[in-house]
Amino acid sequence: MKIAIIGFGAAAIGFIERIKDSEHEIHVFEKSSDIHSSSISGIRADGKLFVSKDMGGDIDIDLVLQKKLVDFYISHTENKNVETGQSFGKTPYFNKFYEKGFQPITSDFYHIGTDQLKEVLSNIYENFKSHKNIHFHFSYNVTTVEKLNGQIKINDSEIFDYVVVGVGRSGHPLIKTIIKKYPELILDNTKVDLGIRFELPNHIVEDLNREMYEFKIRYKSRTGYTVRTFCNNPSGFVVLENYGDFTTVNGHAKLKEKSQNTNFAILVTIQLTEPFNDPTGYGSYIAKMSNLLAGEGKVILQTYHHFKTSKRTKNLYRVFPTLENDKYILGDINLAFPRRIIESIIDFIEQLNEVVPGIANPDNLVYAPEIKFYSNSLNNDLLQNLKFIGDCSGHTRSIIYATAHGYLIAENIMNPSQTPATI
Ligand SMILES: Cc1cc2nc3c(=O)[nH]c(=O)nc-3n(C[C@H](O)[C@H](O)[C@H](O)COP(=O)(O)OP(=O)(O)OC[C@H]3O[C@@H](n4cnc5c(N)ncnc54)[C@H](O)[C@@H]3O)c2cc1C
Repeated sequence: MKIAIIGFGAAAIGFIERIKDSEHEIHVFEKSSDIHSSSISGIRADGKLFVSKDMGGDIDIDLVLQKKLVDFYISHTENKNVETGQSFGKTPYFNKFYEKGFQPITSDFYHIGTDQLKEVLSNIYENFKSHKNIHFHFSYNVTTVEKLNGQIKINDSEIFDYVVVGVGRSGHPLIKTIIKKYPELILDNTKVDLGIRFELPNHIVEDLNREMYEFKIRYKSRTGYTVRTFCNNPSGFVVLENYGDFTTVNGHAKLKEKSQNTNFAILVTIQLTEPFNDPTGYGSYIAKMSNLLAGEGKVILQTYHHFKTSKRTKNLYRVFPTLENDKYILGDINLAFPRRIIESIIDFIEQLNEVVPGIANPDNLVYAPEIKFYSNSLNNDLLQNLKFIGDCSGHTRSIIYATAHGYLIAENIMNPSQTPATI
């Protein structure tokens, strides 16, 4: 078959790795200019590889395959040197959270690190390129994908027997064009994660940070909404994220420069039902409302006590923000967020305080808005020769899940009887 892969990211890597030794003629179309481009692939920053059944996506990926793909990435580092660890691997910690109603997310993680990631991507590319049946086309932005009789045409010119779309989140414009033409591909687009970034002194969460780099928990709050932690940054910094027409908060940790604070996101998953079909619009409006109150390009900062009692914060006490002071306004998040979201977050923090005393201190800091958008979930069963892999399919959110998704779609071509029915 003549196969096109659109995008060279984690999912495409999994697909090619499984199919590279076959007779198929494979063309990879990537919009970035070359393998060293700063916009190519999601395998560029940090590189924490997780092996877990509980996080990374909504498809069921066998743990053995996940570990095999971790080993595949590690085998492309120069000296096979990675940091490893476990989230909630030790029973006492797991039990402490479980007892108070939290669902601890267990995972093994392998941290490759940003520097090594560059050479990993480059080494994988060199290996793939050495196969005679694999052809790379850089600076090739695919803007249209069209069904013909039994074949697929891309960019109104090239025709293939089978097309795999693996354009990640940055490929949203292409996905939007495809689903506008073929709306029957959409399975679900009703979810958005809305919440805050929480910042507190390191010493309160010192044990937790030492025990596991990343603490991921879920909690069914009394409002009925599920609340989760995301992206924990020990000794980290809160930063802004610019979406063009609105601004949100995010966090990161630096290797050398350290702060006195830890920050992590607390997100409430909102899943609404018909006739609602615009989660991105819903999240964006709430973000814009927060920006309207804070001033353009700024976010709202409030102490936890005032967040709880719905009063504007005017002064801080013992905890000071790591976000620069021209990027936030002291205010009241309650004026921008629906009550049920606020109540879910408060319930989560109060309950977490039972496990980690000091989390609910009145002077800890709350920033808003923090939002995580989900891609539309797309139906891979609808068309025999047009498949969506990785994050653009709406089914994955991590390097290993995206890679595994690509791998399984290729497995389906190589060995159809051995693959799960839905991937
Ligand atoms: C800052 C950051 C840090 C992250 N850190 C981690 C981490 O530590 N661990 C983890 O597991 N996950 C992490 N992730 C998530 C991870 O990067 C993604 O889940 C994963 O890369 C998804 O793989 P993908 O193949 O679906 O998409 P991507 O890896 O994003 O690849 C998509 C490719 O398609 C190309 N493309 C897009 N549109 C087109 C088009 N129209 N035509 C041609 N080419 C196109 C893009 O240039 C890109 O190269 C992080 C994400 C971000 C943003």
